[in-house]
Formats: sequence, C-alpha cells, structure tokens
Amino acid sequence: MKMDLEFERKLTIPLETKQRFPVTSELAPIVEERARTLRDIFEGRDRRCLLLIGPCSADRADSVLTYLERLRRVQEEVRAQIFIVPRVFSNKPRTTGEGYMGLVHQPDAAGRPDPFQGIIAVRSLHLRALRETGFTCADEMLYPENHRYLDDLLAYVTVGARSVEDQQHRLTASGLGIPVGMKNPTHGDLRVMMNAIHAAQRKHSFIYRGWAVHSPGNPLAHAVLRGRQTEAGGTLPNYQYESLQRLAALYLASDARNPAVIIDTNHANSGKDPFRQPEVIRDVLESRRRDGEIAQLVKGFLVESYLEDGCQRPGGTVFGQSITDACLGWEKTERLIYDLAEHFS
Ligand code: PEP
Ligand code: MN
Repeated sequence: MKMDLEFERKLTIPLETKQRFPVTSELAPIVEERARTLRDIFEGRDRRCLLLIGPCSADRADSVLTYLERLRRVQEEVRAQIFIVPRVFSNKPRTTGEGYMGLVHQPDAAGRPDPFQGIIAVRSLHLRALRETGFTCADEMLYPENHRYLDDLLAYVTVGARSVEDQQHRLTASGLGIPVGMKNPTHGDLRVMMNAIHAAQRKHSFIYRGWAVHSPGNPLAHAVLRGRQTEAGGTLPNYQYESLQRLAALYLASDARNPAVIIDTNHANSGKDPFRQPEVIRDVLESRRRDGEIAQLVKGFLVESYLEDGCQRPGGTVFGQSITDACLGWEKTERLIYDLAEHFS
C-alpha cells in the first residue's frame, strides 16, 4: 500500500537557505567566540552562570527582537556573573499533537501551516538576532534533520522531554559540536536522560538527511531537569536538594564527561506557574551553597520569560505575550536577572 501522504512542496535545502541568509565574515567570529565561552562554562574554566532565557515559543520576529534588545542591555550590566543565551524556540512539541507548533510550522501564528516559509522565517530570525543584538541563541531540536538549517548559528540546543528517548535525537546530538541539554522525560525517569547523555557523548554511524554519516561524540551533552508529570495529571518538581544529590550520584556512577545540569525553572518545576521561577532559582542557589559538588554540577538555568506576564491564546494581539506556556514578564525578568547576578557565586 502506498503512503497516504500528500507531498505539497519541496523545501529549500539548508545550503540555499544559508546562502540567502549568510553568517557573514563579520558575524562568524561572534559565533565562534560565544561557542568558546559555552565550552569554557561546561568544561569548568568559566564559572559564570549560564542563563538560557526567553519566551516559551518565538512566535513572531518583532516581539522576540524587542525582547532580545532589552536582554542585551541587561547582559552588559551582569557580564561578570552571568552569560546569557536567549531562548529562541522555533518549534514546539505538543503533548496531544494539537495546538501551535511554532514558527517553523506557522510563520504567521494566526495563519495556515506553511513550513516552506517557516524554515525561512526561523533562519531569518536567528540571523537577525545575531546581527542586531550580537546574540547566538538556543533552540529546541525537535526535528533533528532541521538542525542543518541553523548549525552555523546556534549556541545551544535542548532535546525536549518528549524526544529524549528517541534514537535519532540522541545520534544527531552526538555530532553537533555545541552543548546539548537532554531534558528528563515527562514521567521523570532520570535514567532515560542519563542514557541520552551517554548515547550523545559517544561516536556513531547513522543515517542523516539521506546520507550515511559518522559523528565524533559530543562531550558537552548534559542534563536538564524540568520536573515531572504525575499519572493523576499533576506536576512534581525535581530541582530540590535531594533531586540534585540523586543526579550527582547518577553522574558519579556513569562515565559521562563534563557532568552538568541546567535547571528548567518553569514547566513541571514551577507547577506551570511562571511567577514561581525566581523562587526555584533561590532554592537551587541555596543547594549550591550547601554542597560544593552540587555547585559544580549546576551550571545555570532555563527560564521562560517574555515582554508581558502570562499567556494568551494563539492569534491573541498582546505584543510580547506568550501564546504557549505562561511566561514571566519583562519587569520581573529584569529583577530575576539582577538577583541572580547578586547571589550566584
Ligand atoms: C519547552 O521548553 O517549552 C518545552 C516544551 O519543554 P519540555 O520539553 O521540558 O516540555
Ligand atoms: Mn514551555
């Protein structure tokens, strides 16, 4: 039986998209320098806090770039304590397959799906972020084959809670050359995340974009704790002292290189209440003070923040308010960053 798929349109290939939106010779050193800083953070030579921060979904270029502009000014102020990598997440995993799936599917959040323009919109947004604000950013690698459209631009990727057990994600992560944050799965089993780190740190031979490829292994693959869902439909956090101790023990029993964790302060760690994110950070900072091993392990935070507090429905007209998970608005974000700069040591 033939597949029941309607092939609508062939997408532009990564090379063409890169030629149209190139990382120029003036921009390439910025990408390289930021990549070096991230390596230094994960290999322990740079002790600053890594702050991955931005909206749950990068739904439109104008509000995201306004947000990054503000972030740029704060970054200048806290550069001695914090290294900021903005969250520009252009593809969204959906629990039931329904809802807004990100810029890559819908370059206009209120319009029809249009992946042809979506791919271009994503490349264009990441390039504008670099050109206009000097930031290389983080994105989720939801579709491993699409990474090639951004591989000369991204600073960091996450493998999401719903993808972390998937082989293609793990194998692709093993060939990225940038830090990859492996999230714990939604049900919270940390062994799945540790297995993902193990797999990504190793060499592999596999199939990628119609090629037989070989990867060198990625020593910068690490853990991201995002809390977990319960069977009853609630959430439980996993950022507290005991969870961090447990993770430290799992790392000790593994042969992983560069043990590290980023704490996702939203999602199941905030009980989906974005205003609890500062409290999560304070608690983790306390654990770092209490235990030197935990202090070494926790490299930073992943925070969901945008221009306006909360969220609205997709198609909503509030500029800079999330259309997916509720976020911390700008004023509270600024306070959070300055507090973090004061207390991270
Ligand atoms: C997210 O970062 O918005 C996200 C979907 O995270 P997770 O994969 O942890 O659910
Ligand atoms: Mn989110």
